[in-house]
Amino acid sequence: MARGSGFAPVQAQQIVRVFEKKICLHAPIGALMTGQPIELAYALALISTDDSLSVFPRWVNYAFPGVEQVLRQLRGVACSEGCDFCRAHLDAKQALKRWFGFDSFLNVCWGVVAGGCCSAAIGGRSLLVVFPTGGGKSLTFQLPALIAGELQSALTVVISPLQSLMKDQVDNLLAAGIARAVTINGLLDPIERAKAIAQVANGSASILYISPESLRSRTIERLLQGRMISRFVIDEAHCFSAWGHDFRPDYLYIGRFIRELSRSKLRAEPIPISCFTATAKYQVVEDIREYFKRYLARIIHEPRGTRINSEIARVNFVDLMSSRC
Ligand SMILES: [Zn+2]
Repeated sequence: MARGSGFAPVQAQQIVRVFEKKICLHAPIGALMTGQPIELAYALALISTDDSLSVFPRWVNYAFPGVEQVLRQLRGVACSEGCDFCRAHLDAKQALKRWFGFDSFLNVCWGVVAGGCCSAAIGGRSLLVVFPTGGGKSLTFQLPALIAGELQSALTVVISPLQSLMKDQVDNLLAAGIARAVTINGLLDPIERAKAIAQVANGSASILYISPESLRSRTIERLLQGRMISRFVIDEAHCFSAWGHDFRPDYLYIGRFIRELSRSKLRAEPIPISCFTATAKYQVVEDIREYFKRYLARIIHEPRGTRINSEIARVNFVDLMSSRC
């Protein structure tokens, strides 16, 4: 008989009672008590702080990398059965109202795509999205990032070649009353840089904007090792493609970095990714899919999108991975 399994059901019920409305009602508490009791204890300790700015100490992340997966199982992915916690905290529409004040994604430009992207990202899927410039793209990765930051103290890393626009994005969120995003890039002075690094390390940042070349920095690597990473968002993803006019060799390092970081965190699946591009050329999209198929296992081609209108005569929204992470 597995260790402690004889008592697990009763104790599991007690945990569910104590953490009612703080974790998914259908989280596999009994299995976690048996298989990962230490990780479960640390995850519940973090949840019991009731403070979305608290993060695991770095040594916990290093000594028990499985703690991230446990936290995700407790409150990171909505259950298919539905429960009060998941409906209140993991529903894209509810979160849209809470964070940005919109009643519906239809109030956001390209709302149908935006709503689908948010729901898929909250569900832990990896996405490739062809999204027109000015269509409300930022919101579709910021909203899942803010939810992951709030519920799991997790960080979403946004990789973009456009350093000058990173500060604009951070400032736009600040103007909306959301002080959870920072950028670390070559345009910062040393004091600004140190402040941004501290915000990532201490958990007050849920979104980090960096350039692709920053992934080669040991400082950035150590920072990301010390935080739970919810997702990598890769903006201007056409830069992967030798067919694109903006091909950037630094982009070719991203897949290897995500693969190695995922392995170091003992993840069963790679950290989810969202790729955004406004370039809908067939060869560019194929290059992006092929790239991640090569670097991150279990990626398949699984078109799921719908045509939004006649301007986009192709699939907008593609799942990159077959299974939830
Ligand atoms: Zn649930």
